[in-house]
Amino acid sequence: MDLLAHGIWAGIGVAWGRRRCAIPRRTALATVALAVVPDLLQGLPLLALVLQGTLDASALLRYATASPGQEPALSPLVALWTHHLHCIGHSAVIAAAVTLLAWWWLRRLWLPLLGWWSHVVIDVFTHSAAFYPSPVFYPFTYWGFDGLAWNTPWFLALNYAAIVAALVWLRVHRRESSAP
Ligand SMILES: [Zn+2]
Repeated sequence: MDLLAHGIWAGIGVAWGRRRCAIPRRTALATVALAVVPDLLQGLPLLALVLQGTLDASALLRYATASPGQEPALSPLVALWTHHLHCIGHSAVIAAAVTLLAWWWLRRLWLPLLGWWSHVVIDVFTHSAAFYPSPVFYPFTYWGFDGLAWNTPWFLALNYAAIVAALVWLRVHRRESSAP
């Protein structure tokens, strides 16, 4: 799914959760941040090159908006980094390992990780075999589920319509709960 929709859906989930239990503001913000980070990770090597002045800033934009096979040419090392960072951010195996490690360390679930999980799960179904299949079982396999590409026009429209409906629902129910 696109970056904006990932962030908004996580925000909707957090807003809904905050009505049921006390979620500190910082935890809420961290949850939304972790819902968008998986798509930003892979851009870091390119951003580093832009900051160094060895890559044109427009290449970063072209990379972020590329279709499969249309990405700007990258050096083998940068291509390797972007590839593996993308896989790490989209892997349920890595997310599970980090979740268990955090759970062991904190003795409880670290809530912001649910933002990351939302990204992993949503992307499995909103990418297709032809459109960056999500490597959910990386590092064991690059296999990805052949779902529906999120940039399919009717799905994109439906997704944002659902987002608007969810935001309206949250707003209406906030009014109802605060009404005298
Ligand atoms: Zn993604």
